Amino acid sequence: MAIIRSAVSSSKSPDASTFITLLDSGTLATARTQKPAFLRLFGPSSDDFPQIGRITSPFATKGIPSAKELRDMLLKELAQGKADGDETPVYMPHPPIHEEGRGGLRRKTVKKEGLKEAALNLITNIPNPTYTAPGMIPSLPSPTLEALCSDSKENPPDLLSATEISCAILPCNTYQPLQHYSEGTTLTTLLTGTQVSIIWPPTSTNLSKLAAAYKAFARTSDPSLLAITSTLEGGIALVQRRGDTLRVPPFCPTIALATSTTVLAMYHIVPASSFLPICLKIPFLQHWWPTETRGDEKRAAFGEALLDCMARIMDCEFESYAVTDVAHGLDTPGPLLELVRNWDVVKGDVLAVMGEAERAEVARKWIALLSQSSGMHCLICKKWMRTKEKDIPKHFMSSHWV
Ligand SMILES: [Zn+2]
Repeated sequence: MAIIRSAVSSSKSPDASTFITLLDSGTLATARTQKPAFLRLFGPSSDDFPQIGRITSPFATKGIPSAKELRDMLLKELAQGKADGDETPVYMPHPPIHEEGRGGLRRKTVKKEGLKEAALNLITNIPNPTYTAPGMIPSLPSPTLEALCSDSKENPPDLLSATEISCAILPCNTYQPLQHYSEGTTLTTLLTGTQVSIIWPPTSTNLSKLAAAYKAFARTSDPSLLAITSTLEGGIALVQRRGDTLRVPPFCPTIALATSTTVLAMYHIVPASSFLPICLKIPFLQHWWPTETRGDEKRAAFGEALLDCMARIMDCEFESYAVTDVAHGLDTPGPLLELVRNWDVVKGDVLAVMGEAERAEVARKWIALLSQSSGMHCLICKKWMRTKEKDIPKHFMSSHWV
């Protein structure tokens, strides 16, 4: 803990005090803690606990570019992207600038040209460890880094989706207020700089507090409403330096402070076993989307991705049996069985994030699966059917739809 405190103390950020207060509160542990109370809150498996080190680094065998090489590489990619008509990089002014609008304070839109210039300045200053600016680049795709380490990324046998490598570029003293990690497992390698993070377990208590804070923040855009970190349970603190890879399970609340100019390379993976747990978190995400810029677009994209994943699970892509072998007595553990057993629980939340076309496709997939599964019973509720092909569409829409 002394190492973490000293890393934070070196920062001139006004937000460093938030970290010091939390570190002094005695409620946090380090990432290497073996205290059962902390481990238990994150979950039963060692995979549920954030891990930091070099073992999981996708750069382990390839080496990491220097800060100057990174700068040159990203500038070259930007010039190439511009030639191809790309709109990147997205620069986020931070903290967001607010202005008085109808219904109170609203986030001010900053002119695109100013943001582009700020983004270029930031990338140019990657080798300057004390460069400060009121903003950051949260996600910049990097085909060069992706090509460098694509062979070494985590690739579980039931991989449902994976993102390509993108960079987060943070000026010195950038504070990232309370937010949550995505629905995938996030692997972040620090390429240059230093970042201190506090990560809390995604317990129902923590996520309901975070959801309430998001709800209040979405109404007023007042960042002080996110200052609830002292009320969260079970947090761990860590410092990430050059070469360290941090592996964080889905939905963990977090705050972070870059104590020098920092570049992180990150990607997310979602195994098929995560599909149902993600569906169960949709009510939480419904509080988060309104806090995001283009939140409606993000929700719609999430709905489309959900349909794609669900269709692949229903086609038995991750099972040891084929879709033609599905019988009403299905009991082989796997993502399809989880979905079949819990569809009535999650259907309302799943369908709420989908558009009309996706909803129609979901109904079509289920009716096809239920009709062709062998036996005379409904796969979901085991109800006996006299003539399956004729009765299933009506039964599904009256018993397993919203
Ligand atoms: Zn049924």
